[in-house]
Amino acid sequence: MYKFYFNRVKNRYELNELVRMFLPSSAYEIVDEEIDSHEPDSKLIRIPDDIDDKNQAKRYIFNLLKEHTGLKPDWGILTGVRPVKLAGEIIKKTNSIQRTKEILMNEYYTTEAKADLILKTWENQQRVITDLDKKAVAIYIGIPFCPTRCIYCSFPSNQANEATIKDYLKALYKEIEYVSRELLNKGWYPESLYIGGGTPTILSDTDLKELIELLLKSIDTSKLKEFTVEAGRPDTITYDKLKIIKDFGVGRICINPQSMKEDTLKRIGRNHKPSDIIQAFKIAEKVGFDVINADLIAGLPGESPMDFIDSLRGIIRLRPENITVHTLAVKRASKLKEENEEYSYNKGNKVRTMLDNGSDLLDDSGYRPYYLYRQKQMAGNFENVGYSLPAKECLFNIRTIEDNQTIVALGAGGISKVWYPEENRIKRIPNVSNYEIYIERIDDMIERKRDGIFAIEEDV
Ligand code: SF4
Repeated sequence: MYKFYFNRVKNRYELNELVRMFLPSSAYEIVDEEIDSHEPDSKLIRIPDDIDDKNQAKRYIFNLLKEHTGLKPDWGILTGVRPVKLAGEIIKKTNSIQRTKEILMNEYYTTEAKADLILKTWENQQRVITDLDKKAVAIYIGIPFCPTRCIYCSFPSNQANEATIKDYLKALYKEIEYVSRELLNKGWYPESLYIGGGTPTILSDTDLKELIELLLKSIDTSKLKEFTVEAGRPDTITYDKLKIIKDFGVGRICINPQSMKEDTLKRIGRNHKPSDIIQAFKIAEKVGFDVINADLIAGLPGESPMDFIDSLRGIIRLRPENITVHTLAVKRASKLKEENEEYSYNKGNKVRTMLDNGSDLLDDSGYRPYYLYRQKQMAGNFENVGYSLPAKECLFNIRTIEDNQTIVALGAGGISKVWYPEENRIKRIPNVSNYEIYIERIDDMIERKRDGIFAIEEDV
């Protein structure tokens, strides 16, 4: 058992994340004081006194654990959620992509493949994003309901009856009306609109129509560049629903297979088959959207690298404009975490093969990485990458992942973020994630927004 004592380190979270890349949680403990451990097989590791820089401390732990375990994690000492943002900051300072690559590899210890992935993603983003008007915000609307709950789900997704959904929508409409008034008062306008979840297409045709109608009536969409609805689960997609969405001007939808393997879909708690996914794509094609995104997950239970690649091939055949490859993150709130505490740690090698082979296949098929982020508890501590065919990239994803736009998030689980560009800082204003509490406390949620976003003196 390793015991780590992170003496003189203020933020221990990042060091803890680094240790997790090397060791299963059962093999170590973070201790609060320098105990003299006499337990057999127990090893105390502390930061030497001459180290007083965070990255230096991380490099020290990295080298030590590399020596002890023989492992060399691909992301090196990078533990943050936004490696592309960090690379952008280094590029700004050094004015050199080559120098940035060297820094990523020599100072952050990433592999060459990860440094290239970060820099390719950054370069593709530069082609899409223009200088941001500070009054342009992103609006996110959360519908926290799904037909069933996937075993890895840690989102506020719920199964609810129609009456409850109606109560939820009533509260949501109140928030929409408040936000739209305040946007007008501030002179802010949405650059992108995103209805996500959960699964928004679980709403009845009437509710879906009413929600989008209200949104478009209340919010000034004259400068809107992008409107996405996450159709998500193929088992909620019908021609009529997609037609409603399309007729209101939605240009981008997501149909998220996660896997094209029937056994896996059953195992993860979905009640649809691969043929339903293909059917959903056919319907979407008939209705005609500019962009369809398909999500796929690497590291699902029971899947081999070959299964993953077969699924990816199946999805590429459907030719969506965006393909987002997620690495399974087994969060605390998920059923999978209850079943297997060390799931993320044990899946590492298989996931590496899936992601490497997947990235080559996507590249050969014309898809380019355009946004990237990492999460806690990801299998093998890898990454999520959004790929796109040229000129079809999702602006909402780029801006919100890079944390360089104010996002006003409505609904249960919505986390608004106010962006302060001068200070390179984000302030978070969360709504409660439980939909019942959200309904009950809708006035508090509105007050939070008033105090945290709209009443502030500074202009974003
Ligand atoms: S579709 Fe997404 S939000 Fe819904 S249960 Fe599955 S993982 Fe959770």
